[in-house]
Amino acid sequence: MLPWVVRRTRLPLLSLRCVDCRSESATTGEGRFRVNANGKLLDVWLLVRCVSCDRTSKLTVHERAPVRSLDPAQLDGYLVNDPGLVASRLLDPLFAQRNHFTLDWTGAWRLETPSAWLDEAWPVQVEVTFDDPVPVRPERLIARGLGLSRNEVLRRIKCDVSLRRTTSTGFTFTVMAEN
Ligand SMILES: [Zn+2]
Repeated sequence: MLPWVVRRTRLPLLSLRCVDCRSESATTGEGRFRVNANGKLLDVWLLVRCVSCDRTSKLTVHERAPVRSLDPAQLDGYLVNDPGLVASRLLDPLFAQRNHFTLDWTGAWRLETPSAWLDEAWPVQVEVTFDDPVPVRPERLIARGLGLSRNEVLRRIKCDVSLRRTTSTGFTFTVMAEN
C-alpha cells in the first residue's frame, strides 16, 4: 500500500466579509490572540486582518468565561500567541461556525506522494491520510497525484468512498493497470 499524505503548508485564509471594504478574504497573519480580563471573567479573541484594507476583526474564542474554567496551559498559550493554538482554533469547525467564516485552502496545502511508484506491481493500492482537515475531492486529488485525466481516473480507479464527494478523512483506492 502506497502512502499519500495531505498536509497544510501554511494556515488557510478565511472567507469572511470585511465590514469596511466588502472584500471576502482575511488572514490570521502571524497569529495573535487578545485576552481581556473583566473581574473573574475572560474574553479571548483571535485577531484576523482583511487582506485588502488591513482592517482588524476580532473572532470570539471565549466569551465571558470564568478564569478557572480555562486550562492554565491553554491560557498561557493565548497570552504568548502559541502558533499551535492559533492553528487549532482556526481549524476548529465549531469556531468557524460560531464566527461565520469558512476556510479558503487554496494554495495552503500539498499532496505528498512517494516516488517509488514504478516498482509496484499492478494493481496498486494507495492509502490517503490527512494531517490537516483539507477538504478535497478524491477525483481531483487522484488525478493530480497520478497525473491522469478525469476520464482515466473514472476508468482506472476503484475507491471505497465516492470520488466526487468532498472529504477530509482518510480513504484508500486501487489503481488498475492500463488495458
Ligand atoms: Zn477590508
